[in-house]
Formats: sequence, C-alpha cells, structure tokens
Amino acid sequence: MRFDILTLFPDLVSAVLGESIIGRACKSGAITIKTHQIRDYSTDKHHRVDDTTYGGGMGMLMAAPPLYNCFQGVKRDRAQDGFTGTSRVIYLSPAGSLLTQSKAKELADYDGLILLCGHYEGIDQRIIDELVDEEISIGDYVLTGGEIPACILVDAVARLVPGVLSDPKCHEEESISSGLLEYPQYTKPAVFHDRSVPEVLLNGDHAKVDRWRLEQSLERTRERRPDLYEKYMAEHPEPEKKKRR
Ligand code: SAM
Repeated sequence: MRFDILTLFPDLVSAVLGESIIGRACKSGAITIKTHQIRDYSTDKHHRVDDTTYGGGMGMLMAAPPLYNCFQGVKRDRAQDGFTGTSRVIYLSPAGSLLTQSKAKELADYDGLILLCGHYEGIDQRIIDELVDEEISIGDYVLTGGEIPACILVDAVARLVPGVLSDPKCHEEESISSGLLEYPQYTKPAVFHDRSVPEVLLNGDHAKVDRWRLEQSLERTRERRPDLYEKYMAEHPEPEKKKRR
C-alpha cells in the first residue's frame, strides 16, 4: 500500500513514521510512504503558501495554487513509479468525520491514500471541493497541523495491511476491533510490588482463561464505553450467558 502525504513539515512525518513497526514495514516494502513538500510548489518568490482570508477573520489560510500544484506533483510521481492502483484523497480536518477502526479497515482496502495536511486556519475550500474525496478528523479537538493526524491515520491503516504485523491475528482480538475493549494483560514476573497475576492465567486451563478474558472485556467495556457495550450486546446476545456458565 502506498501513502502520499502533502505537508509543510515532511521531517515531522518522517520522524514519526520512520521508526518501529511502520518504519520496518517501509524497509520491507510492505508499504511505501512518500512525503511531498507543499512549499516546493509555490510560485511565489518567497515560497509563501498562505494568505489572508476573504471576508476577514483571524489567521492565514493555505492558498489553492501551491496545493493544486503539489497534487499534480504527486500524480507525476505516482506515474513515474508505475502506481495505477485504487486510491482515495483525504484531507485531515477537525471538521471531518471521526476516524474509527472500521474506517481504518475500509481505507486499508485501497492500494493508495493521498493525505493532505493543513496548517494555520486550514485550506482554501476550493481544493476540498475539487480534489478531496473525504475529510477525516482524529478527534474532537483542534491541533496546530494535520501532520500528527496523518501519522495516526497511516499507523491505524498500515497495521491492517498484510505483512506489516508479524501475525495478522494480532489486531483481531484488540480493543475496538473485536467490538469490546481488551482485557487486562500480564507478563513476567508473576508478582510485582505485591501484586500477583490473576490465578486463572497461571493454571493452563485455556477454556477458563478465555472465559475470564471475555468477562473482563465485557466489564471494562460496560464501565468505560457503554456505547460500545450496548452495540456489542445487541449484536452478540450470547456472551453474558457464556460468562455465567
Ligand atoms: N480553522 C480550522 C477549523 O476550525 O476547522 C482548524 C484549522 S487547524 C488549527 C490546522 C490544521 O490542523 C487543519 O487544517 C487540519 O489539517 C489539522 N487538524 C487540526 N485538528 C485536527 C483534527 N482533530 N483532526 C484532523 N486534523 C486536524
């Protein structure tokens, strides 16, 4: 899968995505991440990319021409690389719809994503109208730029791409993916600061372990995310019964 990220701060993106599992996935070729410096596409002699907003108001807005030119640059770069797959253009924006695990799964089915990072007060609406398929927000708060949201989206999507995680089953049992929050987990030592690992995890009875984990997941989800709990229970009327068995 290929990610093209249009940004004013490519070093920020590379620093985050060049490490750990995503960094290794790039090296192995499971995914490709390319950053594109929007400023390089400004025709202004000072390489300006922003301007004041029509109608007045505080702050600066990223202007359409450098953004449009940068998209053209991405197109050329993809053509040079022989990329012809399915693709979607996303503008990271607090005004977008919320990024969820099911959205990440949906996006992982594309061969490529083009991610546009805004800055300042955002970007000229005409770029959204002409070039963007979808606006995505990573949460109900406002950040200074779209780079961190883009990294979050890449991370969430890339780990669903075959070959990125060592075992594809890893993400099936996790919080949210399964519809429930994950149960508590423990590793060695068995006792830490007088706190013991729950007995049930030490006795090798896998059926009991499974039951305990489901019970913990249900309990946590009910307490912390009643919205998820209700949805899960409507779709799986059985687990409460299994828990009591
Ligand atoms: N004036 C904009 C508004 O009210 O919707 C906010 C602009 S914000 C200060 C600058 C940039 O940060 C945005 O263009 C967007 O790319 C990014 N950004 C900020 N918060 C975000 C969020 N929650 N999700 C995704 N992107 C976000």
